[in-house]
Amino acid sequence: MRVTCKECGEKARIQSTSDAIPGYAKMYCCCTNPHCGHTFVAEWSYRHTLNPGLQANQRVLVDLVRAMPAEQMQLFINQVTA
Ligand SMILES: [Zn+2]
Repeated sequence: MRVTCKECGEKARIQSTSDAIPGYAKMYCCCTNPHCGHTFVAEWSYRHTLNPGLQANQRVLVDLVRAMPAEQMQLFINQVTA
């Protein structure tokens, strides 16, 4: 991740992060320009999903199967294991 100093426009270094909750982090940054030295806190946050990923897809599938009536679930299992 690239962070830019808003005071001088040079690259800043992330010195530490604090991520108290998933999807949000505070980044403690320091400008690398020796003539600036600006230190600041920037934020990173999750916005939205583009592709849910395999784990989310598997959770949806498991939830769907668990919600099936017993007979339908058995038919599904038979089809998958055939
Ligand atoms: Zn700077």
